Amino acid sequence: MSRFLSERYASLAPYVPGEQPRDKKYIKLNTNESPYPPSPEVIKAVGREEMADLRLYSDPDCKILREKLAARYGVEPENVYLSNGSDDILSFAFMAYCADGGKAAFPAISYGFYKVFANLYGTDAMEIPLKADFSIDYRDYLNLDRTVIIANPNAPTGRTLTVSEIEEIVKSNADHVVVIDEAYVDFGAETCLPLIHRYDNLLIVRTYSKSRAMAGARLGFALASKGLIDDLNRLKFSTNPYNVNRLTLIAGAAAIDSDDYFMDNCRRIAATREKTAKALTALGFAVIPSKANFLFAKHETMKGEAIYRLLKERGILVRHFSDPRICDYNRITVGSETEMETLVDTLTAIVKEGTTL
Ligand code: PMP
Repeated sequence: MSRFLSERYASLAPYVPGEQPRDKKYIKLNTNESPYPPSPEVIKAVGREEMADLRLYSDPDCKILREKLAARYGVEPENVYLSNGSDDILSFAFMAYCADGGKAAFPAISYGFYKVFANLYGTDAMEIPLKADFSIDYRDYLNLDRTVIIANPNAPTGRTLTVSEIEEIVKSNADHVVVIDEAYVDFGAETCLPLIHRYDNLLIVRTYSKSRAMAGARLGFALASKGLIDDLNRLKFSTNPYNVNRLTLIAGAAAIDSDDYFMDNCRRIAATREKTAKALTALGFAVIPSKANFLFAKHETMKGEAIYRLLKERGILVRHFSDPRICDYNRITVGSETEMETLVDTLTAIVKEGTTL
């Protein structure tokens, strides 16, 4: 840090993304990317002509893609906001609704970025503990008089709330925004999208990074009442109006045109998840029931960190968190069938060697 950095940022603890090592080729199960490529339509959509058009700015209103997403989700274009990944939207949500001493609440074990944004924007953050089984008790979020941020399914647990539980939260915090981060919803959870027609304080955040296999394109979207979408646009047009680039807009639209391809892959990943969960359970792992594209699992005897390290030595990357509340666990992204078979074979060998490091 230089001596020039503003004092308010001096104590920031930035988010630490999952590792992307280059030393060798790993089976990469650590950042919840899709094991499958984007659809052939997406790959075809970005051609020479589009490259040549890069001399032009992108459409700051993202009109075509907003219309496509509106049609896909049964809302109006005015209910859709697009941004540079969903992290960008979450950042704007903290900036818009709970910056400078504003109050927020989110689960104590959840997506790590919520805490980073709270720090960045000077939010008074209440972190609400999970229950012993890692579930969220929706009753802890009623009448909080704060902005509420919940990932559903939650990360890194994969556990879900029901739509009626979310509705209770939204209803009882009518004077605050409730952000439901649905990054993983396409893998088998229930979306609370129908609620945006009844509640003007519900902001749903989605991403192309997981179910639409486009993490590298950086595309996220929000679905909400017109008022909340206008707020996000206000911030976007006050920072970077071109925050979604031309190629990503084109790829994002082609993805909606070939949506069946992506939703089929989500079902495939969900089936692989269930099969892997069973195999891990048979190996002595406690596996949290997940509706996301990852599993959160701890072994009955082996330490989480040791499993992470032994897997990495053998070419498989998973995500280990050092937080003492979850350090016995590893978060394992659901890869392809073959990748997961290799994972299970490797873990079988590791467990058999009886290492208790
Ligand atoms: N929300 C959750 C719960 C996540 O796990 C992630 C991925 N790290 C994101 C949001 C951000 O995704 P992106 O910025 O790639 O859209």
